[in-house]
This record gives sequence, C-alpha cells and structure tokens, in this order.
Amino acid sequence: MIKIFVDDSVVNEFYEGVKKYIGKHLFTSEETSYFTDKKIKEIIKCKPADFESLINEIKNKSLDIGIIKKAFVGDEKNLYGYKKFTTKAKTQYRGYNLADALKIDVCPYCNKNYTYTIMNKSKQYTRPDFDHFLSKEKYPYFALSFYNLIPSCQICNRTLKHTTEFTLDTHIHPYQDDFNSIKKFTTTMPLVLCNQEKDFEITFKNKSSDTLQIDKADKNIKDLALELQYNRHKDIVLELKDRYDLYNDASIQVLLKDTKIFKDKGEEYVKSLIMCSDTKDKNINKRPLSKLIKDISEELGLIQEKKMDPVSSTG
Ligand SMILES: [Zn+2]
Repeated sequence: MIKIFVDDSVVNEFYEGVKKYIGKHLFTSEETSYFTDKKIKEIIKCKPADFESLINEIKNKSLDIGIIKKAFVGDEKNLYGYKKFTTKAKTQYRGYNLADALKIDVCPYCNKNYTYTIMNKSKQYTRPDFDHFLSKEKYPYFALSFYNLIPSCQICNRTLKHTTEFTLDTHIHPYQDDFNSIKKFTTTMPLVLCNQEKDFEITFKNKSSDTLQIDKADKNIKDLALELQYNRHKDIVLELKDRYDLYNDASIQVLLKDTKIFKDKGEEYVKSLIMCSDTKDKNINKRPLSKLIKDISEELGLIQEKKMDPVSSTG
C-alpha cells in the first residue's frame, strides 16, 4: 500500500471532463432538483473525509437508486456515466486521460505490479484499472467521483479486492492515509541469522501508535493478501542481505573516495544501486517492491530510517 499524491489540476481536469457524462436526462423531478450542477461538482470532487456526509444526505432524500445507478454508472450501451468514461476515445476525456495524468507507475494497493499508462496520439495501449473504493453497486452516485477511483493493478482490483467491501471506517484509503507511516515490513527472524527461505517469514510491524489506523491497515493487509504475496519474494530479501555483506560500509566509503562518478552522485545514490531501489520515502511508488526493499534495508542497517519527508495532504 502506497499513498497517492495528486495535484488539484488533475482533479479539476477530471471534473471538467466527466461532468457531462452523468445521464441527467434519466432523472425524474426529484433527482433533478437534488442533483444540481453544484451538487454534481461536489460529488465528483468529494474528498474521502466528506463521503459519509454525502451518503447520509442522499439516504435522507427520496431518490430512485435505480435511476441514480443508470445515470452515474451507465448501461450496456456505454453512452453515459462511468461506463462512458471507461470506453476508449481519442478526442474526449476518458479513463486513459486520467490514468496518464496521475502517472501511477506501480499499483498503490500492492506495490508489486506495474500500472503505467501507455498511449499516444493514434492508440491507447494499456492503463491501470480504476477500483471503486466504495462499490458502485452500493454507492452508485460515487461511480464517477475522483477520490473513489483508485488506480490499481488488475489483480488487486479484479481478483483480490473484487467484491470485498472496503469502507473508510475499516480500510486504509490510498488518497487519504499513508500506509508507509503506519506499517513496516520486517522478518520473523533477524535476517543476519537467516540463510535460506525456510528460516524466516516476511511480516509487518507497526510504525504508528494510532490503533485505529493500525486496525485498518491490518484489514488491507488481510484482504489484499499482502503477507501471502510478499512471502513469495523471500529470495529478494535474502539477496539484499547478501548484497549488504558484499558492499558493507567500508567498501561503500572506498567506492565514494576512489570512483569519480560515485563521488559526484553521493552516498545515497550508491546505496540505492546496492538496494536496486530508491532510498527515499517519497519515491517508494516508483518501482515494484520498493517499500519492502526500503524497510528491510533499514532493518539491515544499510540505510538509516529517516523522519518522514514532509508531504502534502489531500485533506
Ligand atoms: Zn496491485
């Protein structure tokens, strides 16, 4: 799990692109008077922290959920709603445009699978799935809400999360919560004592003391089978230990002193080469398994655990 940071301009571009896709022509007078242009803007741009107040507001109106579903999710003809957003088109704002603007190269749910977007003027090749954090069956009016669309890999969206109900009370939300500051990868046995895969298990320990956040993170770990998945990567953890034995602090200092290119690029760069990953928290979304490699490298003493880089919040 890796937090997603987004610029307001991406949210605004999404809103301008999709607001016309809502099938307003299907509304009866009740829906028309509630779903004004202002309300639709509020729903499309609704931050996770405000989901609940909108849910309660809509619950207290006598609106037709079947009509809402058709208007916001769409039907088999893909003429409006989320379904229109996810069909391919070169000249209109679609899922590919959002994916391209977000630049999520690795799945925020698993940090294992690449999710980059490949498109050019003539063709759209591949993009991440968009998982509805709150399901579009239960909350159809959030089907086209920016912060309810989580760019993710197909395995997380279609196989692991699939129909499992995620809510803000029970799970970490990648636009709102920072899993990296709540949980840390570790091993059941200190790695210095391990020589083969059967000597240890990869697991998580708590980094935060916020029990509510820890409980939610535990739910994500369980429902996305993160421990089970990461234990298929013990080879990488053992290699990391061996690489650290090869390039210990003394040999790193020799490299830095004697090799111009390393002297110029600095110690952090050399360590990132040894880890085959970035050493900074803010870059753990760039490559698969970065959080595993960073956390285990800190445990091995290859890099020092730093105070979290200051990061902006989606509020
Ligand atoms: Zn994934």
